[in-house]
Amino acid sequence: MTDWTPDARELADLELLLSGAYAPLTEFLGAADVEAVIERGRLADGTPWPDPITLALPEDVPVGARVTLRDPEGASVAVLTVTERFGHHAAGPLEALDRPIFGPFARLRRTPAEVRKEVGDRDVLAVTMRGPLDAATLDDVAATAEELEAGVLLLPLAFGEDGPALVRAALKAASTLGAVVTAVPLAPREDPEIDLELREHLALNYGATEHYAGPAPLKIPGPPHRRGLVVFFTGLSGSGKSTIARGVRDALLEHGGRTVTYLDGDVVRTLLSKGLTFSRDDRDLNIRRIGFVASEVARHGGLAICAPIAPYAATRDEVREMVESVGADFVLAHVATPLEECERRDRKGLYAKARAGLIPEFTGISDPYEEPDDADLVIDTTGVSVERAVATVYNHLISGGWIR
Ligand code: ADP
Repeated sequence: MTDWTPDARELADLELLLSGAYAPLTEFLGAADVEAVIERGRLADGTPWPDPITLALPEDVPVGARVTLRDPEGASVAVLTVTERFGHHAAGPLEALDRPIFGPFARLRRTPAEVRKEVGDRDVLAVTMRGPLDAATLDDVAATAEELEAGVLLLPLAFGEDGPALVRAALKAASTLGAVVTAVPLAPREDPEIDLELREHLALNYGATEHYAGPAPLKIPGPPHRRGLVVFFTGLSGSGKSTIARGVRDALLEHGGRTVTYLDGDVVRTLLSKGLTFSRDDRDLNIRRIGFVASEVARHGGLAICAPIAPYAATRDEVREMVESVGADFVLAHVATPLEECERRDRKGLYAKARAGLIPEFTGISDPYEEPDDADLVIDTTGVSVERAVATVYNHLISGGWIR
């Protein structure tokens, strides 16, 4: 038996497949259905269906395999028997495993059957919500329900970070409308038409006689001085990353107004990444760990400063992605002091050792450094005072509005 952890969106789809919310779908789509959906908005048998609901699986898992699908915490959700492989996708019957649904507002994630039973024979106006309902919409929903002589069912499409806030908004609206609330983990679809069609399908499955699509939320990001921020220094050993990073940290602490977490490359390797080597895999893991901690700090509006070498562009991109996915900002500062200058300084005596062959895989000598082409700041410290280098970064933070 193989184990696999689908991504968050696939897990949400899995829950909807298993609960009956995606009926008549009960499995991830196979190749023929995917093609038919993309071409005609229908399954291969002609049933209207707007969106290819697929599952990616490592390509070495063969047809015939039984795969336990787990959530990121390791809890098993279902067993998939693979009957079809196409590209990196897999399809086949799913067997739900009996397990408690958990997470915030788990008690409100009821199945369509449960909801239909609760609502009975009444006509139902189902409101799918991607954001809170404003006063005008609330009035409109109430008027429509009255006209239809229908009960109101609120379906907050709770997925990801903002899920719990959306369910809270639905509960609040429900108390004014006298509505029933059921949380539905439908990840937003990029194409608004497909998103709307899927919402309609779900509403009908939950027993709606009429569907009301709640308005799309306006996403207004907070002002920069309240948003999380990661300042990420990259550059060769001895280029000045730590010196500048410490200077920026101290300036921020003197200024006040923001909390600061400092993740120095060398310091990180004494605990968070203790034991990791300088192989490509371990370097990448080190950067991912730093990126993970930094994005957790930034998720809560904090400011994290990181100063590892981070020689690989793809891994730096991953960190940027992690940070931006929690709604925070990312500033990449390339400390571009040339190798000759770093080696001339050789503050830690490492270059001499690397040249003597005593340190294998030394960045710039016997290991690559991929210069960033997406740096927000490029600082060559040759002939520049530490104060000036620090001021360059600090001024950037002021002009970006991150510090007031
Ligand atoms: P890294 O963290 O990139 O390995 P360090 O900050 O530990 O580098 O070392 C950089 C060395 O360069 C320090 O000895 C520092 O005093 C010196 N240096 C000279 N000028 C500057 C400058 N303008 N900015 C930062 N460091 C400088």
